[in-house]
Amino acid sequence: MVDKYEKIIELAKRRGFLWPSFELYGGTAGFYDYGPLGAMLKRRIENVWRDIFVINEGYYEIEAPTIGIEDIFIASGHVGGFSDPLTECQKCHEDFRADHLVQNIVDMPDTLSADELTEIINKNNIRCPECGGKLGNVYEFNLMFRTSIGPGSKRAGYLRPETAQAMFVDFPRLLKFYRDHLPFGATQIGKAYRNEISPRQGVIRLREFTQAEAEIFIDPRNKTHPGFKEIADIVLNFYSQEGQINGESQQISIGAAVNTGIIAHEFLGYCLAITYRYLTRVGVSPEKLRFRQHMKDEMAHYAADCWDAEILSDRFGWIEVVGIADRTDYDLKAHAKQSETDLTVYVPYDRPKKVERFVVKPNMAALGPRFKGKAGKIANALKALRQEELSGEFIELTIDSEHIKLEKDAVVFETVTEEIHGENIIPHVIEPSFGIDRIMYSLLEHSYFEEKAIEEGEEDEVRIVLRLPPQVAPVQAAVLPLLTREKLIKPAIEIIESLRKAGILVTFDDSGTIGRRYRRNDEIGTPYSITVDYQTLEDGTVTIRERDSMGQVRASMSDIADNICDLIYRGKSFGNAGRRV
Ligand code: AMP
Repeated sequence: MVDKYEKIIELAKRRGFLWPSFELYGGTAGFYDYGPLGAMLKRRIENVWRDIFVINEGYYEIEAPTIGIEDIFIASGHVGGFSDPLTECQKCHEDFRADHLVQNIVDMPDTLSADELTEIINKNNIRCPECGGKLGNVYEFNLMFRTSIGPGSKRAGYLRPETAQAMFVDFPRLLKFYRDHLPFGATQIGKAYRNEISPRQGVIRLREFTQAEAEIFIDPRNKTHPGFKEIADIVLNFYSQEGQINGESQQISIGAAVNTGIIAHEFLGYCLAITYRYLTRVGVSPEKLRFRQHMKDEMAHYAADCWDAEILSDRFGWIEVVGIADRTDYDLKAHAKQSETDLTVYVPYDRPKKVERFVVKPNMAALGPRFKGKAGKIANALKALRQEELSGEFIELTIDSEHIKLEKDAVVFETVTEEIHGENIIPHVIEPSFGIDRIMYSLLEHSYFEEKAIEEGEEDEVRIVLRLPPQVAPVQAAVLPLLTREKLIKPAIEIIESLRKAGILVTFDDSGTIGRRYRRNDEIGTPYSITVDYQTLEDGTVTIRERDSMGQVRASMSDIADNICDLIYRGKSFGNAGRRV
């Protein structure tokens, strides 16, 4: 039986959403082209993301190279540890993810070492899934594509395995851009590359894919969010650590999840809320969406809390499409160390604090005459002394290899009370990381329906319809003259021109019966079809047909562009778009 995945991939290929890359030469696993409709759908999904993260949240977008120098990925840990366990069949030489081969035998195989995996494979006599041959010892395979920058191989470069690093590397510039104020965030939408070992899951596991990531830098002492109240009542499907142990998810509000400590803090809760809003706005079914917390041994050691948005798919079960993590100060600390640069932020206090400070004042009247030219150096060394170093009978220093012994009267010291107005801190990072390709596949799946047609005398036909939200549908309107007659084509072209001026992507279709033309548009998710008929010539009205209900209204041609824009972008209900027919 053909499953839903195959139906969608067939439709996606036939109608120009997704094509296997390099098909002319036989193709290669892990790469897909976006065809004309796919590229437009993807762009629209990205633009909704921009609308939420850049416009609404104010996290400006940056664009950095997709190749990075080695220092970046040493600091990020990718050079040292961004790998998957690989085993090669000794007979047919096919490569496999060792953790995938043992997933029916052990829990959480991705937490096991290469040696542990080798042992499990040997003990259970797991053989090559392709040819039954013996599998070799498991080793860690680094997933980054390596290249060299400039001629020769003197300088290593890597295709970035995530878009996140640029926001850390640009941190000092971003801090200035945001005028030294926390919290602030920056985003990037772009390609990421991972040399996946054996991508057998079609569009779910790609070697080149698109991420949309936000790095939000916050004050670690304040993980609240000013917008929290507004989202606290949103109910999500939580699959918490405890829930996973008991095998059940729970539907509770984000407010309750933060109050009971299921989610670490408000800021993370807020990010879960905007992730939910985004995914449902682009067309993911809310009942096929859950938020799964990383188990303790799954979470990176530095992370304070981490949640994945997972979407239920027919073939693959629950798939991770978004990761939302509190990464603490790990990334900035690592880059500060690698680059030997201070990446702290000065944070002023609300009210100045009083602190006691020990100060040493050298007695220059005594030091000057005795040490002459050296007196300055000695004075500086004295100022740097700590209180406990002044507790002995004498003060001993070494200046320019010379041992100097001083009487106590060489200094006076005292404790002074000072006001300090702030301190330098390393921000913590909240990172929502979205996989656009997986989201796009999921919403194709969730919006795909097969129905018995009940329109235009085609009762026995199956209608395939993509119920994509009008905002993301690649083609937004179809203009269909009822007959191929000059008289009807002329107003149809006028309508097309006015829609194009309003920024609506529109197609013209005059071939075949009107029913067939509706079907062709239903299948690609075109939300509105506008039909020009003889009545148009009499009273300047057209019919607008809504894809989902197949209902029709009669509306004026003169303000058709406004009408369609209101329907797509401003939430106008179809019933208000014209007179029901
Ligand atoms: P990660 O950095 O592994 O947490 O990935 C962040 C997001 O990128 C995931 O939630 C996925 O949606 C997406 N992603 C990761 N790896 C791949 C891949 N090989 N192909 C497609 N999407 C991916």
